[in-house]
Amino acid sequence: MKAIRYHGPKDCRYEEVPDPKPGPDDVVIRVRAAGICATDIEVYDGVMFYFTENMTRVPIIPGHEWAGDVVEVGKNVGGFKVGDKVTGECSVGCRQCDYCKRGWYNQCPHRTETGLLNRDGGFAEYIVMPRFNCYKCNGMTYEAAATIEPTGIALYPTKVAGVCAQDNVAVIGDGPIGLYMVQTAKAYGARQVVLIGSREERLAVGRQLGADQALRYRDADVVKQVRDATGGHGVDVVLEGVGKPSVWPIIAGIIAPRGRVMMTGLFAGKTCDVLFDPLVVNNVTIHGTVGGPNCWAECIDLHERGLVKASPIVTHRLPLAEFEKGVEMSRQRTDGAIKVMLLP
Ligand SMILES: [Zn+2]
Ligand SMILES: [Zn+2]
Repeated sequence: MKAIRYHGPKDCRYEEVPDPKPGPDDVVIRVRAAGICATDIEVYDGVMFYFTENMTRVPIIPGHEWAGDVVEVGKNVGGFKVGDKVTGECSVGCRQCDYCKRGWYNQCPHRTETGLLNRDGGFAEYIVMPRFNCYKCNGMTYEAAATIEPTGIALYPTKVAGVCAQDNVAVIGDGPIGLYMVQTAKAYGARQVVLIGSREERLAVGRQLGADQALRYRDADVVKQVRDATGGHGVDVVLEGVGKPSVWPIIAGIIAPRGRVMMTGLFAGKTCDVLFDPLVVNNVTIHGTVGGPNCWAECIDLHERGLVKASPIVTHRLPLAEFEKGVEMSRQRTDGAIKVMLLP
């Protein structure tokens, strides 16, 4: 089959590799859509943590946001048949350690991660996955199904924060994750969602997807704008999806008493100046989350019911061979690119 393989920094090759074969518990999928994410840009550049720390084998096929059709199943596999449309979770736990047994498979010390950590990903014609990590999504388009992974990254902190109808929610970041956070917060009934981002065209997409306010974080008075929008109260929940120290003064300025701050962006080793006294006095919770464990079925349901939409987020499509072009489009946000899909 044809695949994109990472051999080293800025050395990803479109090449012929052996077709994957299923083990007894595996499913082989013909990939029909695979999204390029900011992490794939880090992989391409060779700066992603697993690669700089030599944690993963190389060469590896990247791509952790994908969907396709089942074409072959292993002998133990029930519940999936040839022709099912599926997507699959990125984190594949060992299913035996204490973390896995508690459902924390994305923390499993023995885990593999599709396209990132010792497991080939979806920038290929075929992918092999354990059946335990596959989900049927017959009611969705391939492109939307390939965005279940980023949807999970948005839904998980929304769930963990317990977003409810009383909550004013601020989403920080207008990338695909932030644009999904707007929708998951709305799906959970948030009273008001304020999107804080940097690009006017993306803020417009945020409004289209349900943001009640869409503000620029470079505006000097953005904190006042959020306070004004919430009658002086501030926001009960912050869903942070940027990972830049410059967002912290905004978070500290807008969080309400008893607020919950959900951090999902990675800070690439940078530290934040945090004034803790107001957080202590106001009983603020700060919570880090990674991935979207135990919520893929719910993500699929939200998409299938139309409560969450991929269509304005997926902006561009390219053939698999044009992976590098897709990476550069995503990096430069060429032509308003938000999510670029490869169609193998
Ligand atoms: Zn991703
Ligand atoms: Zn484990």
